[in-house]
Amino acid sequence: MTATLLDGKAFAAGIRARVATHVARLREDHGITPGLAVVLVGEDPASQVYVRSKGKQTVEAGMNSFEHRLDTGVSENDLLALVAQLNADPAVHGILVQLPLPAHVDAGLVIDAIDPAKDVDGFHVSNVGLLGTGQKAMVPCTPLGCLMLLRDHLGSLSGLEAVVLGRSNIVGKPMAQLLLGDSCTVTIAHSRTRDPQEVCRRADILVAAVGRPEMVTGDWVKPGATVIDVGINRIDAGDGKTRLVGDCAFDSCAEVAGAITPVPGGVGPMTIACLLANTTTACCRAHNLPEPA
Ligand code: NDP
Repeated sequence: MTATLLDGKAFAAGIRARVATHVARLREDHGITPGLAVVLVGEDPASQVYVRSKGKQTVEAGMNSFEHRLDTGVSENDLLALVAQLNADPAVHGILVQLPLPAHVDAGLVIDAIDPAKDVDGFHVSNVGLLGTGQKAMVPCTPLGCLMLLRDHLGSLSGLEAVVLGRSNIVGKPMAQLLLGDSCTVTIAHSRTRDPQEVCRRADILVAAVGRPEMVTGDWVKPGATVIDVGINRIDAGDGKTRLVGDCAFDSCAEVAGAITPVPGGVGPMTIACLLANTTTACCRAHNLPEPA
């Protein structure tokens, strides 16, 4: 392997430590404790793992964690009523509705019912619009974490060719907006892109967010490029066991790239750290206090 490993686990620990310091100061100086409410509907095993991890790290940072677990059959109206209750609760500064929601619930309606000031996932249409127009927004946690890793490793991103593979509302599109905001020349590739390999090979920065295990191999990567692997895919490892892999074939990409994030231990830990940072930011904005740097 020739590429530098971008250690998201260590970087995220640093963010969490800074958040904890800020939270302690908010409590000591102002008597305020940031609070994050997480709403989980149903029994999806991956969602349960994420929610447990979010709750644990929220408490470890000194914040209040409010968990609301609802049955899969909960009605859309009951879910909207809970969101309205959390919007009105001054102890709650951030609200996260864990996706996916059951099919009978309109996820867009529920997300857009969240007070945009408490929308720490940054999925509300107001925050999407603010980000798209370069205004102060709540920025989605996963792309924000990717941007932090890129800035830390590369310094200025200005003028670099960036390719984002994937165009979802939660990763691909906001990632592209953030890279554009940092003056990259941005291309978004997706399932209808003609010759995605050729497109990716132009990239100084390649962000893979497709949900296809190890789809991107070394011959998709420009020599020296910085590769950010957002994918989290569980695959069969034989003997009845499974293992996590990204959207990039790590060994093959690491032979060509200048730097690369591992899976696990790359983007994943950054997502929760950014969620805690967003919640602290939301709390500071709610109380007209200086935001964390
Ligand atoms: P989605 O399924 O919502 O979007 C996948 C995107 O990839 C779509 O835009 C799709 O194109 C595109 N795509 C699919 N197949 C191909 C292909 N063969 N060639 C080119 N493009 C393709 O996924 P998400 O954005 O939600 O997640 C992507 C990955 O990131 C997943 O592995 C997910 O688990 C992971 N993830 C990780 C997080 C973390 O914290 N690290 C957080 C969120 C997600 P089209 O639009 O044309 O269908």
